[in-house]
Amino acid sequence: MANVNLTIDAERCKGCGLCVRACPKKIMSLSKTKLNSKGYRPSEVTEPEKCVACASCALTCPDSVITIVKL
Ligand code: SF4
Ligand code: SF4
Repeated sequence: MANVNLTIDAERCKGCGLCVRACPKKIMSLSKTKLNSKGYRPSEVTEPEKCVACASCALTCPDSVITIVKL
């Protein structure tokens, strides 16, 4: 990951996929293996080394589930 710490609060994610569509690097997807306690598939960054820290995902998320801290 490019000088950035990106965290996704999987328990608060509702699996809407907006962040997946917003990512210009196409490195986000909804989990194929995990469900949170509400039954949603949380989003994940599949190739964090390709993240350019643009923050599109965090800005797009309606529930502010994604936090990005530049290092
Ligand atoms: S910060 Fe940008 S490049 Fe990184 S995962 Fe989010 S949308 Fe994709
Ligand atoms: S936009 Fe937010 S709520 Fe929707 S899938 Fe992404 S992290 Fe989850």
